[in-house]
Amino acid sequence: TSDRPRPLVAGNWKMNGTRASQAVVEAVRDGLDPALAGRIDVLVCPPATLVGAFAQALAGSAVRVGGQDVHAAASGAHTGCVSAEMLADLGATHTIVGHSERRADHHETDADVRAKALAAHRAGLIAILCVGETRAEREAGRTLDVVRGQLAGSLPDGATAAATVIAYEPVWAIGTGLTPTAADVAEVHGLIRRELAARLGEEGARIRILYGGSVKPQNAAELMAVPNVDGALVGGASLKAEDFLGIAAAY
Ligand code: PGA
Repeated sequence: TSDRPRPLVAGNWKMNGTRASQAVVEAVRDGLDPALAGRIDVLVCPPATLVGAFAQALAGSAVRVGGQDVHAAASGAHTGCVSAEMLADLGATHTIVGHSERRADHHETDADVRAKALAAHRAGLIAILCVGETRAEREAGRTLDVVRGQLAGSLPDGATAAATVIAYEPVWAIGTGLTPTAADVAEVHGLIRRELAARLGEEGARIRILYGGSVKPQNAAELMAVPNVDGALVGGASLKAEDFLGIAAAY
């Protein structure tokens, strides 16, 4: 319907890519059908080392560049970290926060993720906030409780649809080739939509909710057709221009 949020197809490169990989984003830029670019937003999130060069290569195109994580502070004594302001300075427009690999490998809590989302907003970046259950949590029948809890703890009050995107990524579906059924995706996205609307009203009804976890050109159309799925967060398949464009073409 016409009031459906504008879809977003985002690529999460994780810790992959060197300067030579710029050829991939150039192929995405040049291969993106202008009519499709008129209907959807397309974003690439490379490692922080490549954000500046990619932003320059994509300047004036329909493809945006984002980060994969930010520190909660704008600057200071945080060796090895990158702030939202620094990414914005390079031309980033978005950043992922709270990816399950950050939550697991770096022990990020919901409160940490909330602070990072606020940092993104402070710097003028759109925060793509990730939630999702582990295999053990799903098998224990706790999926909806886990996602509800993560959302309650990590989504800032006053979040707007312009500055906030939610990504539902079941941890067991990331990088495994496994995906939930369309009915399972519909159930979780429906829960997220209700929670967003209850907390944020009209804004919550318009916030985009992406699905992520083993999205491929072959399954994108089915996943993207699920109610309240407003786009995809793509890991492995975003590293090949052809696959990433194939997923975008599901729209
Ligand atoms: P995947 O990763 O597409 O490789 O499963 C998704 C993600 O972690 O964002």
